[in-house]
Amino acid sequence: MPLKVYNSLSRKKEIFKPITDGHVGMYVCGPTVSGESHLGHARPFITFDFIYRYLLHLGYKVRYIRNITDAGHFEEEGREAEDKISKKAVIEKLEPMELVQKYTNLFHWAMNQFNNLQPNIEPTATGHIVEQLNMIEEIIKDGYAYVANGSVYFDVEKYNTDYSKKGLPYGILSGRNIEDQLETTRELDNQDEKRNKNDFALWKNAPPEHIMRWKSPWGEGFPGWHIECSAMSTKYLGDQFDIHGGGMDLQFPHHECEIAQSAVCNHKMPARYWLHNNMITINGKKMGKSYNNVIKLSELFTGTHPILTQAYHPMTIRFFILQSHYRSTLDFSNDALQASEKALKRLWEAYENLNQISTLINPSVASDEELDLKVNKLLSEFDEFMDDDFNTAKVLANMFELVPIINAIKNKQTATDVLSSATLALLLKK
Ligand code: ZN
Repeated sequence: MPLKVYNSLSRKKEIFKPITDGHVGMYVCGPTVSGESHLGHARPFITFDFIYRYLLHLGYKVRYIRNITDAGHFEEEGREAEDKISKKAVIEKLEPMELVQKYTNLFHWAMNQFNNLQPNIEPTATGHIVEQLNMIEEIIKDGYAYVANGSVYFDVEKYNTDYSKKGLPYGILSGRNIEDQLETTRELDNQDEKRNKNDFALWKNAPPEHIMRWKSPWGEGFPGWHIECSAMSTKYLGDQFDIHGGGMDLQFPHHECEIAQSAVCNHKMPARYWLHNNMITINGKKMGKSYNNVIKLSELFTGTHPILTQAYHPMTIRFFILQSHYRSTLDFSNDALQASEKALKRLWEAYENLNQISTLINPSVASDEELDLKVNKLLSEFDEFMDDDFNTAKVLANMFELVPIINAIKNKQTATDVLSSATLALLLKK
């Protein structure tokens, strides 16, 4: 069965066909390193880790890019902006790059705890200012951005008018049309600089107190958030690549803006398949400062947040995330995590038991043919489920059906020859 992925762009499952046979280019939006990663960050990075691992398992040569946002992510996107890194550097009394290093190190530590593989390239926004400036200049030259008081804004209305005819309207990914956006966008403090409410900053003029600043043709300033991902994905994966990933919350405006910027510069939809993981809720509530439920990963591993009744092993968190399909919502609670902890323990015990029964010499024909067939079916479905838009939940359900069979053999409750040697070998391989 070929691999099928749910493409947010077409809103349906599609057969995955890479641009170049045997190769996959994948770009995933990385963290903004203005603070420590929290539980909400665990899901996208674990999701794209198992997607990456499965693509490797299928034999693809994958170039996996996950960026580090160390400039340009505004505190309140769309409003009078303050760079998150700059603001936090002042609070923590650190040089911005010192702050960036501190939280990048902590992010890497958390990724290691989760046993996530490293991406092939981890580019930073500050390391790609030149590429961003080049792209902005090109967008201005093509007439889709304008300069106002040393800042540069992308002209969404003009883009939408012209690119709708080319099949790339603004809103193509999120399904929002431009009129809806106008109605829902809040009043903006810097409205007078922009021609329209939907326009977004490609470059911001830096006020004198702003520490992170670079020279540009429009004066000293700093890049907007969206432009970095367009610049870095183009640089390392080309005008069009296979997979663009991220959390559902990034669909709008971040990914929508990326599409518009890249389309102007490269005349193409940047990625063919857009994959988005769903969000994590905590006891049924959205995660947010106002609910006091933003649990940092270090607090999760040590059980030091007031919501937590105990510490959780990073593998419990990983397992908990894999138990749901990545596009389903996932509600975090102590009860749910404790259940995952128990389930994972059962699975580990069965794995150890399997290693012990692996020394059995089984006959070529199983004494229990029906059971032998059942085990074979459960195992063959692993790839089938993963091929169906990476359904880890169903794979784990099958693994749990295997647990009592393995344990019964190990505990000699059933004869040791119920499975054929071929089936046992397959079981060990999986
Ligand atoms: Zn991004």
